[in-house]
Amino acid sequence: MIISKVYGALGWLRWQILPLRCLVCECPGEDGMDLCRACHRALPWNDHACRRCALPLAAADRADETDDHCGRCIDEHPRQAAASAAFLYAAPIDRLLIRFKFHQDLAAGRLLSQLMLQRVPPFLAGPLQPMPLHRRRLRLRGYNQALELSKPLARGLCCPLWNGLQRTRETAAQSNLDADARRCNLRDAFAVRGHPPAGLTIVDDVMTTGATNDAALRALQYAGAGPMQVWVCARVP
Ligand SMILES: [Zn+2]
Ligand SMILES: [Zn+2]
Repeated sequence: MIISKVYGALGWLRWQILPLRCLVCECPGEDGMDLCRACHRALPWNDHACRRCALPLAAADRADETDDHCGRCIDEHPRQAAASAAFLYAAPIDRLLIRFKFHQDLAAGRLLSQLMLQRVPPFLAGPLQPMPLHRRRLRLRGYNQALELSKPLARGLCCPLWNGLQRTRETAAQSNLDADARRCNLRDAFAVRGHPPAGLTIVDDVMTTGATNDAALRALQYAGAGPMQVWVCARVP
């Protein structure tokens, strides 16, 4: 998309010319990022989470859980083989994600990608598939935030991007719907072009109930995909 390229070029230029600046507190950035060390230390990392759905595990639960799976995943077996979220959806990550997604702040997106690279999930073994946007929403926003997150991840990890998953139907905003309505809203929302490669990992900005991922994974399974994973920036607990 042209807008993504223009913002990307401006961001690169700003990065080259201006000193790094913490996007959270405006102090000088450090360690090659638009983030200071104090804000980096205070980030809400999601380090103790279910390996299957990335839901944070409470300390008390962790002692009971077998194999780092939450109770729901032991009962229900989600479609993905594994999932990882670098962060909990909490301050300041929530604000950075909103700036990135709705206010064309691609510097926030670049910072979030850099931080995701500090928590690379152990399951990565194949291409990354950014969660697609419907073309109308893509036109309105000018870029797909999942793709903008995925490009630096793919570069940093030397792994390919795949783009066979497509959004065929525009769906209502998921944030206003309960879990059942989300599943209904997403019926037939995805299609797959070509044969999915082995070891595919879907990349997205936020995972809430997992309904969007489930619908995408179902379409990929129908197209013949084997076990797949999900990697997101933030998980809504
Ligand atoms: Zn700071
Ligand atoms: Zn789980």
